[in-house]
Amino acid sequence: MTDVHILAIAAHRDDVELICGGSLIRSARQGHTTAIIDLTAGETGTRGSAALRARESEAAAEILGVRDRINLGLPDAALVNTPETRALLATAIRRFRPRIVIAPALQGRHPDHIAAGQLVRDACFIAGLAKVAPDTPPHRPRKILHAITFREDHVKPTFVVDISDVFEDKMRAIRCYASQFDGATQGGEVYPTGESFYDVVRHQCAHYGSLIRTRFGEPFHTSETMRVDDLSTLEVATF
Ligand SMILES: [Zn+2]
Repeated sequence: MTDVHILAIAAHRDDVELICGGSLIRSARQGHTTAIIDLTAGETGTRGSAALRARESEAAAEILGVRDRINLGLPDAALVNTPETRALLATAIRRFRPRIVIAPALQGRHPDHIAAGQLVRDACFIAGLAKVAPDTPPHRPRKILHAITFREDHVKPTFVVDISDVFEDKMRAIRCYASQFDGATQGGEVYPTGESFYDVVRHQCAHYGSLIRTRFGEPFHTSETMRVDDLSTLEVATF
């Protein structure tokens, strides 16, 4: 298998669509190869079944334009960051050999999301250690981006990706999960406001877009500082 440029990893099958679906679509259209690892199969979800969610996630993957989407089959609602789960995920990361990994935020409403944020980060490091799971060659991703869409921790995004041109496609991918979201007012990290779930997602993405003076955006946080080489090219006007 050839390397992918960008690998998105999250706890549940609909998570990546919600937190970074627009960025994945935009990256694919820019010519980057993308892939997804869903950590759990969603067998304990209140709505739908694991089999139905599998079909929904395949339909969404086509809209996202990802080359591959695999499911690690870790226990839903019981996701833990252990040496065993880190090694399992590290082996999967080595299959794709990504340059960039998109991970969930380190904080969350759902315990699986919190566990996933640190598990992905740790597995990326472990994937570079030759003596862990030595059957596959080591590979450490260059950079981890934590997708912080819907978070309320008041962490200022390190940057926001402009997803205005692909926003309706992101919504089409989310709507593939009709078993989860049709008629819903909340889900994932989205708290209920009285609006439909889909409208809350739209308004949240419009808020992040407003931070970079565009229609729709997806926010990311990196623990390391971003570098600038030419001050005159800096985007986003102050006034
Ligand atoms: Zn989730």
